[in-house]
Amino acid sequence: MMNSPEILGFAGIGVVVIAYAPQIIHLRKEHCSAGISLKAYSLWCVSSALFLIHAVMIRDIVFTVVQLINLVAIIVITLLVKRYGGYLCLTHLQAQQRRSATGASKGDPPVLLSAGVARRVIHRFASG
Ligand SMILES: [Zn+2]
Repeated sequence: MMNSPEILGFAGIGVVVIAYAPQIIHLRKEHCSAGISLKAYSLWCVSSALFLIHAVMIRDIVFTVVQLINLVAIIVITLLVKRYGGYLCLTHLQAQQRRSATGASKGDPPVLLSAGVARRVIHRFASG
């Protein structure tokens, strides 16, 4: 039987899962890596590994589970970014173009349309 602190902790774990899901779904579905820094995710990976070791050592089930989820999510996101890095979906591409038009993103690296967007654009040209 869980006590109140554990119930709160597992509710927090649910929020963590809900927070990661849109990022992972967007990467997987749209092949878009907009706004994701591999350097930041690398540091979070090290941080989560250290917290996981700490949580296991103090035998805290909530922090052990949340750090396992963090590590899995970070690894999945990192692998997807390595696969689709530099690609943007149409929405993020247009947002970047709007920033470029205002001169706000002069330092942004060049981008490629994600494969999914490219297929849709090709399909549109082919059928229109
Ligand atoms: Zn996107």
